[in-house]
Amino acid sequence: MDQYRVYGNPIKQSRSPFIHTAFAKSTEQQLCYQSEFVPLDTFAQTIKQFVIAGGKGANITVPFKEQALALCDQLSERAQLAGAVNTLSINNGQIFGDNTDGLGLVKDLLQNQVGIKGVNILFLGAGGAAKGVILPLLEQQPNSIIIANRTVSKAQDLCRQFNSDKLSACGFEQIANKHYDVIINATSASLSGNVPPIAEQLIHSDTVCYDMVYGQGLTPFLEWAKQSGSEKLIDGLGMLVGQAAESFNLWRGVMPETEQVLQSLRASLENNN
Ligand code: NDP
Repeated sequence: MDQYRVYGNPIKQSRSPFIHTAFAKSTEQQLCYQSEFVPLDTFAQTIKQFVIAGGKGANITVPFKEQALALCDQLSERAQLAGAVNTLSINNGQIFGDNTDGLGLVKDLLQNQVGIKGVNILFLGAGGAAKGVILPLLEQQPNSIIIANRTVSKAQDLCRQFNSDKLSACGFEQIANKHYDVIINATSASLSGNVPPIAEQLIHSDTVCYDMVYGQGLTPFLEWAKQSGSEKLIDGLGMLVGQAAESFNLWRGVMPETEQVLQSLRASLENNN
């Protein structure tokens, strides 16, 4: 049976085996998808062994996305620009690297009826996840994207990577007080119970607030956004399922339905499983 893996450290929390096994079932594809913990210094070796053993594809998660890029024989444009790979497709011993995080985010926004064309986006964060999603967001033709980050130089570097007059960078304190249609939190602040220090006045009832983090109930950022008046709150669970669907499509040539899997995952999260 065709073999697929998700490699990471830590990996126990990964929902990818559940998601891909459900996709395989719904699309009637015969495959085996498992998670594997990789010690920090053996990533390259692990991938080489998987290729030799005839593995067909893999997802790569924290902290190996940059290392994975270096192992690829070929890269998609978005993976190259992101400087990070979350999907490996293996064919005749050759590794093709792609990054489907951005497609997952865009798909989830559209599925939540959030149009991106012509809108003003405030984008918080400039880490690995941010790098992967800026190009797919730009491809949707927003009016502007302001990238704000705690370390301003990282937001500026990210901005320079894309030759676009739609993009600008600043620190949290310098965010212009104007109307943003969509605010995307791509920082990991919610994981430690924190919220990026942005002004409450930036939030209106129609401001879409999106947190890439997900969990039981509202994330700290979404709870803050709700208290500040936003009526449109979305967490990153749909993005997770969306990026997985894009990987699955790359490997199998079939785009799986995502709604059922998303509902099962949501129920499992709310039951604290
Ligand atoms: P990185 O570690 O690469 O980057 C972290 C980012 O968060 C940096 O911009 C960092 O700022 C900022 N940050 C961290 N703590 C704080 C804080 N207390 N206040 C303000 N800013 C903070 O992580 P990733 O970019 O890979 O991931 C970001 C988040 O997105 C993670 O929580 C991850 O779980 C989530 N994610 C979700 C996905 C999904 O499918 N839903 C997919 C990928 C990621 P600085 O540069 O100043 O350090």
